Amino acid sequence: MIEISEHYWNAIRDACVDHIIDMVSVETERGPVALSASARKKIERLKPTLATFSETGDDSESLNWLGKYAPMRSPGTITLHLDNLGGLFWHALKQIVAKEQVTFDQMRDLAAATAYVTFLHEMFHHYCDVNRGTPNETLARLREEGLAVAWSWYGLHHERATFPTLPDGIWQAFLDLRFDYRAPGYTEWSDYLHCHVFVKSVSDHLIIKTSLLAHLGNVRTCMDGLFSWKGWKGKSVHFQFVRNGATGELETKGRAIGRLGVLNRGSKVLTYVPTSVKRSDVDVSGSGKSSFAGIRRNVTGDLYFCNNNAVSLQNIHKNIGKLNGTLCLYGNPVRSNVLGLLVIEGLKRVVLYDQDDTNLTKVSEIVNKYLPNTQGKKGVLLCQRELLEAGLEEFAKL
Ligand SMILES: [Zn+2]
Repeated sequence: MIEISEHYWNAIRDACVDHIIDMVSVETERGPVALSASARKKIERLKPTLATFSETGDDSESLNWLGKYAPMRSPGTITLHLDNLGGLFWHALKQIVAKEQVTFDQMRDLAAATAYVTFLHEMFHHYCDVNRGTPNETLARLREEGLAVAWSWYGLHHERATFPTLPDGIWQAFLDLRFDYRAPGYTEWSDYLHCHVFVKSVSDHLIIKTSLLAHLGNVRTCMDGLFSWKGWKGKSVHFQFVRNGATGELETKGRAIGRLGVLNRGSKVLTYVPTSVKRSDVDVSGSGKSSFAGIRRNVTGDLYFCNNNAVSLQNIHKNIGKLNGTLCLYGNPVRSNVLGLLVIEGLKRVVLYDQDDTNLTKVSEIVNKYLPNTQGKKGVLLCQRELLEAGLEEFAKL
């Protein structure tokens, strides 16, 4: 069973939505939401704009932050900036109503979804804070932003059913605006939209060797380690909100909900784990293949070769010349010849994981250091030397 943070969210949701919707008055009596001239004027003055949001992300140092996470001093604190979330929401809504008819209930669901993405994002920082094995240096901080956005993407899709009023057209228009991340770190989020890559990257990021990876079974269960973390419903997060410029507790039904550990509305089963989202991706997972012959010479997206039988990657570059993304070799018993990976043009990252071989984790770490290989032959030689020094001779071959 997989549990997610819905007991927190259910308590927060209505209060977020009420505040956001009250920021601008709209006409809803005659069917779809209509924005009057004065409403449009008001929206123009709200911040952040969509462009500003794209350039800064959810929790930048700028005045336009949507949420913040302050590390654990037991508890960790998440602050949601409802004014700025409202600004982002209204700018997005203005765009959406230009091409889709939106009812009042749909508008409320869109406001909820806007805030939910930031809520999940900050919860992910909390997760990392609690489980981190390393100091949070700058590079890791940027990486964590990309992972946090990807997590919010997974979580939002997982919870698609809790936004029942939104038809596909509106949902897609919303996703296009809400996930238009261009700030450093944040913009890498789409690299993690394959659950093996995501879980592997999270465990690398936090230097977790076993607990998460132990769950890397099949597609349906590979996120279990994350979704079943008991901290999602623990008492270790404290919530604050910025409303009308002031920071404070949020009251709901007459009581402050800063600490939500007492609320527990039960658990949920993970219903949706996307494995591949881009049309350019090639997925030959679970096909029993042991070689890369005949797949595609030039892969313009990611290549998923998960749970197959590749024992050696000898001459992989002769079959795959170009790969513009990630190669997932999760669940392949690779035991030799990985240097060809560095000869594949454009390859950004490789996932090498096999539960029976701990060496592979080390190999993966070393190879990814040299990807994407911008140094040509020199990169291959440097990687080879490092593999040899680590005692991984079998792998240090083309
Ligand atoms: Zn963040």
